[in-house]
Amino acid sequence: MRRRFIAGNWKMFNVQGETRDFFNKFNVLLNDNADVMKAIIDKSIEIALFPPMLSIAPAVESSGNAAISIGAQNCHFEKSGAFTGEVSAPMLADAGCTHVIIGHSERRHIFGEHDAMLNKKTISALEEGLIPVFCVGELLEEREEGKTFEVVERQTVRGLESIDAATVAEKIIIAYEPVWAIGTGKTASKEDAQEVCAFIRKLLTDKYGSGVADRVLILYGGSVKPDNTKAIMSQPDVDGVLVGGASLKPDSFYAIVKEALSEI
Ligand code: PEP
Repeated sequence: MRRRFIAGNWKMFNVQGETRDFFNKFNVLLNDNADVMKAIIDKSIEIALFPPMLSIAPAVESSGNAAISIGAQNCHFEKSGAFTGEVSAPMLADAGCTHVIIGHSERRHIFGEHDAMLNKKTISALEEGLIPVFCVGELLEEREEGKTFEVVERQTVRGLESIDAATVAEKIIIAYEPVWAIGTGKTASKEDAQEVCAFIRKLLTDKYGSGVADRVLILYGGSVKPDNTKAIMSQPDVDGVLVGGASLKPDSFYAIVKEALSEI
């Protein structure tokens, strides 16, 4: 069985002090729950948080002996160079990150990141041993025009271009995040989430075979809250959730972890 992956994307929230406060409270909640700790230790569940760049160091320091994985929300595709304001994959690895989100819809649609650039970022992250959480998802108008599968296929195939099957199987996490559901309070129904996550797994099966596709973690993201986590996680092709707003406070993120655990 694939492990469950519960991720929190803090976007541009939580300064360093707030990050320490979060972990002080979150670690107590985790340590007080033997079932959650057991699930983390036996690797049936993995918890990852993606703070803003300047809060990565305090997050790594406070994350409780790797009980929680820490990642970044973006990286540059070059390892170093004259790229003012950018942060590279080696810098993230050096700071203690194990994961990096690539292709979040805010990066695609606000900062104009396109498929070819995101493929280069994914490759750069993999070369540094970072696990990319590669995001795909359609805009509302694309869904309304019946283009969901076309968009998700293009983003997935181009994003993973020239990455070999073994790497995809072991190192890639894909997050399906319909753009119309991010930060809007509109969650995709569990059936919508399952339909697109199953479509992604089928794409991977066609390209790499079921031995690979069955190992890849596929997450759903978009207005996930404690009260809709269980339904979404009950779907056979949804292995976890990528949570924005509801991951900012320890209580609500912990409630999501508990709901996810109740689905194992
Ligand atoms: C996200 O930022 O990836 C996200 C899914 O946000 P929210 O949960 O707030 O919709």
